[in-house]
Amino acid sequence: MKGKIKFAPEYYHRSRQTLEFALSSLDAYKPWRELDPGPNFPVDARYAALPVLTKADIRRHFPRGFVPPDRDIDRGLESGEISFVQTSGSSDSVRVTNIWYQKWWDAAEEASWGLNAHTAVLSHGDVPEAILANARNVGFISDDVDLPLEKRRLSRFLYLNEKTDPSRWSAALMERMLDELGTFRPVILEANPSLLARLCRYAVASGRKDVYQPAVIIFTYEYPSVLHLRQIRRIFRVPMASSYGSTETGYVFMQCEAGRFHQNSRFCRVDMQPLKEEHGGPALARLLVTTFDNPWYYILRFDVGDLVRVESTMHCPCGRRDGVILSAVEGRFTNATLDCRGRLVTLRELDEAMGTIEEIDEYRLEQTSADRYVIHLVSEQKNSRALSRKVQDRLRGVYGRDADITIAYADGLAPEDSGKYSLARTLFPLRIEDYLAAGGGTVEDRASSA
Ligand SMILES: [Zn+2]
Repeated sequence: MKGKIKFAPEYYHRSRQTLEFALSSLDAYKPWRELDPGPNFPVDARYAALPVLTKADIRRHFPRGFVPPDRDIDRGLESGEISFVQTSGSSDSVRVTNIWYQKWWDAAEEASWGLNAHTAVLSHGDVPEAILANARNVGFISDDVDLPLEKRRLSRFLYLNEKTDPSRWSAALMERMLDELGTFRPVILEANPSLLARLCRYAVASGRKDVYQPAVIIFTYEYPSVLHLRQIRRIFRVPMASSYGSTETGYVFMQCEAGRFHQNSRFCRVDMQPLKEEHGGPALARLLVTTFDNPWYYILRFDVGDLVRVESTMHCPCGRRDGVILSAVEGRFTNATLDCRGRLVTLRELDEAMGTIEEIDEYRLEQTSADRYVIHLVSEQKNSRALSRKVQDRLRGVYGRDADITIAYADGLAPEDSGKYSLARTLFPLRIEDYLAAGGGTVEDRASSA
């Protein structure tokens, strides 16, 4: 028997209110009005009839198109109540400016903490937190000069890294980061998994055994690769969870202590558009997010750019029942590739295959044509025949016997301009529309047919 998604009655109330207000009062959604079948239809069907909000749409209508007419944007900016923040542009996405309303952001984060047993017990707002991220994404940038600890503090946070290219971290800098964990003693370590993995590889190689252990590690910013998690676990023996969201949408899903992802349904609505069956649908779907109760910024059906796997039973061993449950986040669509027959391969599928190879530190796969793949590898066993054969085997398992695979060993892999690591991509364009199942449908349909 398949599970049914459970929502609090307020969820439908918020969904309806948000939809009706946006369609009637906000310029960005004006063109959507005529597509709304109207109040006589169930709210899920009304959402399903509407288009998808893209980053290009946000650019086109920013900021006025997303802010209620009675709100004074200039005054909000002047008083500091809101600010404009830019998301990092990358080779595959448009650079976007968003409205940042800290109060709403904090409230959404606090609610998301309730979805994991290890964060639920923490008092939000005053626990010391260390952040290991690319300075391009968050914190303070200083590439030439190393900043002392006091210059990297902000309220309860300590930013461990001020550099924009972590592949150039020196041993001294990584020693400093490990030392600062011990002196600052954060309860939470929030980290970009690829960066924390790099720090952990250093700690292992230099024989550091005394690394301070926070209460919990939260992964944000990028897809946590199996390789990176394994490297991190060599140093940290504490609970770890992925927090899933974006600058546009806030905190959307939180990974619980049982490893599944629970919707932060007090602060957002999610709609799933299933992929075609031959590409992994309907369990595999594109994620669209609508935010609730952000008085400064109305975001409806925003395409975050990720593929997710819906938990078809809608049950989790942790016992939480409210909202959509995902068994996995499968990675960004821009990190999807195709097998030799044209079937979509998500980053997760590739990563699980690569994750079985212990000897690899880092990888990046580029698909250059329908059946040609180049994989860049960082490994202590550089140019080893046995390793190359293993990699060929695993990749043929994913992409097919006829896959033409080139292996290129490297000393290190630099992040993209966005500050994030790309694990895989095609060098030719892919359009998500070509992989989506025909017809709309609702989250409920998806769950019961998954
Ligand atoms: Zn759970």
